[in-house]
Amino acid sequence: MPDKKIKDPTLMDKVIGLARNRGFIFPGSEIYGGLQNSWDYGPLGAELKKNIKDLWWKIFVLERPDIVGLDANVIMSTRVWEASGHLEGFNDTLIECKKCHTRFRADEVTPELSGKAASDKTLSKIICQTCGAKGQFTNPISFNTMFKTNLGPVESADSTVYLRPETAQAMFVDFAEILRVSRRRLPFGIAQIGKAFRNEITTGNFIFRLREFEQMEIEYFIEPPKTRKDWEKYFDHWLGEIRRWLKIVGVDMKRVKETEVPANDRAHYSKKTIDIEFQYPFGQKELYGLAYRTDYDLKAHEKNSGENLKYRDPETGKEFVPHVIEPSLGVERTILAVLLSAYTEEQVKTAKGTEEKRVVLKLPAVIAPYKTAVLPLADKPELVKMGEDIRNSLSLLFSVDFDVTQSIGKRYRRQDEIGTPYCITVDFDSLGDGKVTIRDRDSMKQDRVEIGKVAEYLKEKLAQ
Ligand code: ATP
Repeated sequence: MPDKKIKDPTLMDKVIGLARNRGFIFPGSEIYGGLQNSWDYGPLGAELKKNIKDLWWKIFVLERPDIVGLDANVIMSTRVWEASGHLEGFNDTLIECKKCHTRFRADEVTPELSGKAASDKTLSKIICQTCGAKGQFTNPISFNTMFKTNLGPVESADSTVYLRPETAQAMFVDFAEILRVSRRRLPFGIAQIGKAFRNEITTGNFIFRLREFEQMEIEYFIEPPKTRKDWEKYFDHWLGEIRRWLKIVGVDMKRVKETEVPANDRAHYSKKTIDIEFQYPFGQKELYGLAYRTDYDLKAHEKNSGENLKYRDPETGKEFVPHVIEPSLGVERTILAVLLSAYTEEQVKTAKGTEEKRVVLKLPAVIAPYKTAVLPLADKPELVKMGEDIRNSLSLLFSVDFDVTQSIGKRYRRQDEIGTPYCITVDFDSLGDGKVTIRDRDSMKQDRVEIGKVAEYLKEKLAQ
């Protein structure tokens, strides 16, 4: 059956509207007119983002004996970027329409323009996607997309540093130190969540392409493979882990596609890359990447630093540079895919028997900003007091919202829109029978539960 939601041309606007209205995500620096596609996370967005990162950390670091964590500096020695190839090769090619002055990343206009000087013939064929002018483009200019800044008060060539364009390099640079302190044996991984910066030519599509974003990356070190099978088994394992993660975090798997990147499009260090793509309303585009980076990075840093970055096999005593498989996940693209997957519109019957539209954010409970909300039916002191007592006891266990304003119908609607899995209503009967009504976000079914058993009830439900 065709999925109506995927085909809804207004889905993106609806999700952006909800994110903004409910305080998940809104434009940054707005009182100064905003700053090109920068977004701030409000109270609910901050919770959602944190829950996603915590879940990733739990699944891939806390629950796995073979992975350890790292939290490295954003600004690293410039020699890191020299060794990794970013200084020389982390370039994008820009072309500009002479008529309307819109700038484009050349390879997004036509693959013929990726990274090299274009012939006049190629340029003369291109039509501007903004103003429609044909053959009006400047020659391609290549520029490095790393953000440059200055360390210390005096600006000089020696003090130039860069904001990291990926979190990965710290896992290579700190490899020997982490190996020493963690005493892990191969295969093992280093995981990190952190900011990365890229001076992208064109940003946009809400939080899809940003200049400041976060990555959740793992470098999984393995023995140098003797055969293709030796590394493919780990590559396949990580592909499976990405799929498992996508399901847990609530990404609609019907919209996920895996595309192997052809050799000529792969990064210089990679022997195999699979792009995990998502069908966004603006097209099927990269969500995550999975790459076999070989021993390229460790070897490059060994050569540039002169340090020994080899692993010594404790049984054989042999020393070698490990190879690496890298699952690389963007936090913001996860949030976008999750919101697009969770956004649901339903027709429901009202108490009066009429039909109305209900918007529900069907987030998995584990990442929902609030697990539950306590809603006293009316703003009466005895109901509010009882509600507050319930809120206070539950807040030791879960993130709990509390709301006494507006009608109960409007409050349910708000909680549905922000994805709260369970609402607890305290009504006048509660004062007599000591029970409250717990409403399930998705089925809208209601259970009457003794106040003393609410925590147990929710624990059980939220664990499902
Ligand atoms: P794209 O082709 O979309 O530019 P990429 O191949 O350069 O992405 P990687 O270098 O593989 O991306 O980065 C790993 C992950 O980091 C991506 O899969 C994505 O989730 C995230 N990411 C990369 N660039 C951005 C960006 N500009 N904004 C938000 N997330 C990003």
